[in-house]
Parts: sequence; C-alpha cells; structure tokens
Amino acid sequence: MKLEIELVPDSCWYSNLRSILSAAQWDAVRREAYARANGACMICGAKVRRLEAHERWEYDEENAVQRLKDVVAVCHACHEVIHIGRTSLLGGEERACAHFMKVNDCGYADYRKALKEANEAHRRRNRIAEWKLDLSYLKKFL
Ligand SMILES: [Zn+2]
Repeated sequence: MKLEIELVPDSCWYSNLRSILSAAQWDAVRREAYARANGACMICGAKVRRLEAHERWEYDEENAVQRLKDVVAVCHACHEVIHIGRTSLLGGEERACAHFMKVNDCGYADYRKALKEANEAHRRRNRIAEWKLDLSYLKKFL
C-alpha cells in the first residue's frame, strides 16, 4: 500500500524530532524533504501549496531499536491517515478513511484490516518499555 497507518509507540517521547533538534537543524531536515518532494506529496502525488514533514521510523522489536528511516514531505490529507489515532480523536476518521481508500485504490474492508494491523503492532511495541533511538539518518545534517 502506498499510504500506510504508522502508529508510534507511546513510550517514544523523543520520536518527535522537533523536540530533540535545534530549530535550525530541524529546518534543514525539513527543507531537504521539501526539496525532494518538489511541490507534490511524496505519497499520493497531490500538488499542494503546503507540505508537512513526516518522520518515518522502523522498529527492530527484537533489539528494541527505533530507527529513523526517512523524513518525507506529505500533504495534510495523507498525514491525517498516517496519524489516524489523533485524527479520529479530532473527528476526522471518515475523511481519512476516504483518502486511504482513494490513494490505495482499495475498499473499506482493506482500510479496516490495515487499521487492525497497525493497532496490533502498536500494542505489541508498547510492551517494550524503552526503545533505543537510532538517528544515524540525521548525520548528514549535523
Ligand atoms: Zn498526499
């Protein structure tokens, strides 16, 4: 699927890069993503005026390592799907569900399945009390 739901474990307080980088460093990371995107969402391809930076993580559950894989520039609609937990709390699940089905060219059952799988991974990863962070992705910016 092009557009996936990515739920960050509750214990990953540092997963928001903005909180660990200086403003200038975060700005450099963000701008590099925007430059690569060239005005279009890197997931759905929509040409939008305002792109949002999204941190992509991968999880090595065996070794409890959370690795920053990429920072991508996405449109608001895709970002809402990725963070479906927060979006639902704010009442936007229906809109996000519709965007998920459109971008992935799939039906409601596929959306429910993806949501269930994301929630299962989330619960599993929450059992790990402390994740080690691998931020080697950022080396080129520092
Ligand atoms: Zn998009």
